[in-house]
Amino acid sequence: MSDQMKEVQLRDKIVALGRSLAARGLSPGSSGNVSARLGQGWLMTPTGLSLGALDGARLSRLDGQGQLVDGAAPTKELPLHLAMYDEQPDAQAIVHLHSTYSVAVACLEDVDPDDVLPPLTPYSVMRVGRLVLVPYARPGSLELAEAVRLRARQGRALLLANHGPIVAGGSLDAASSAVEEVEEAAKLVLLLHGLPTRRLSPADVAALGPPS
Ligand code: ZN
Repeated sequence: MSDQMKEVQLRDKIVALGRSLAARGLSPGSSGNVSARLGQGWLMTPTGLSLGALDGARLSRLDGQGQLVDGAAPTKELPLHLAMYDEQPDAQAIVHLHSTYSVAVACLEDVDPDDVLPPLTPYSVMRVGRLVLVPYARPGSLELAEAVRLRARQGRALLLANHGPIVAGGSLDAASSAVEEVEEAAKLVLLLHGLPTRRLSPADVAALGPPS
């Protein structure tokens, strides 16, 4: 397939993913953003636009330094994506959401910052692995991008405190299914809050292997 065909397909996939996330209420308002590697640079969703209203031809195209080449101005959360790609060189795509249940868990006190989600189901273990908490910093600040950079060394799935999840994957599909699994796992954590709960044992977790 030609590079041009690949780019058209990638643009279509980002638009379809945005529509699907918005239709399911996972990107309230104009929150949430998606990026994917394209050649030496990236395609990224624009600032101030609902993920449900993306135009494939107007996605932000960035060069290898993160500078806008064409399309609309990129999301203001661009530095978070770039910091994660720096630390996760195999990542092909990143999805960041302000999805409700994940944000709720991101506001809880006393979570384990190195492993926020307890091992409740095999699916979160297989698709997400360890969810690592990034300490709160103001959205758009250099401090937040640097905190993401530090924590991205520990894994591909991060939860920004009082903000939301950001997850990298080996493909757009892998990144989106992992961030959706974070949301489902967060929902379970809250549904089970205060109830005696059977967690998967360390042996159960080890038997599942690393996340794909
Ligand atoms: Zn955000």
